Amino acid sequence: VDASEPRPGNSDPHKKLPPGMVLGKDGKPCRTCSSLASFTSQTKNLRASSATAGSAASGAAAAAAAAGAGAGASTATAKLPDDCPADVETLGRSTWTLLHSIAATYPQRPTTAEQSDLRTFMGVFSRLYPCWVCAEDFQAYLQQQQIRVGSRDEFGRWLCEAHNAVNAKLGKDAFDCARWEERWRTGWKD
Ligand code: FAD
Repeated sequence: VDASEPRPGNSDPHKKLPPGMVLGKDGKPCRTCSSLASFTSQTKNLRASSATAGSAASGAAAAAAAAGAGAGASTATAKLPDDCPADVETLGRSTWTLLHSIAATYPQRPTTAEQSDLRTFMGVFSRLYPCWVCAEDFQAYLQQQQIRVGSRDEFGRWLCEAHNAVNAKLGKDAFDCARWEERWRTGWKD
């Protein structure tokens, strides 16, 4: 599931969600499933509509606020301040850094126990990942593409392919998996 797409299946059909907004299973906006722009747009809309109840003048102000927020929703360059809760992109970047760094430090010849730990970790990770739409797709990926943990390179490439599957879903370029170790362990050769 592309978390940057609206999720009508999870929303109240009577409410319009901005593009990129995903609701949590509690029906409230899910910050870690949504882009910063859509989350900001949604919360501004909510604040604007509660401030307007019963007043024509404030109704006009709310419309203006909502329009401004709507424009903000298409701002691809929105940057989350460092000390704010993570949105889907900040969370994703940090998580890929952790996962690829685990691959980079995984033994070339792991013991049976290390292989078992990694398999367990990835299974638990796929169930606890804080963006639930991302987590469901990742669990499905794990079902289809059995995890490979036999060596550092085996896991590094498996993870690179898993990351590429998400890249493809989001319309991003594929990464050259022959270079995963340069990116995450040794640094670029050239
Ligand atoms: P990221 O994709 O976060 O990549 C970070 C860096 O990794 C890149 O700059 C690049 O140098 C390197 N890189 C890129 N591709 C590869 C690769 N294949 N192998 C090795 N290195 C690579 N977002 C959604 O909107 N919907 C989802 O369903 C979704 N599912 C996700 C599932 C998981 C398990 C994770 C960890 C994240 C998911 N995300 C999802 C977040 C998404 O993948 C990105 O992290 C986010 O969009 C930010 O992207 P980015 O372009 O900054 O780079």
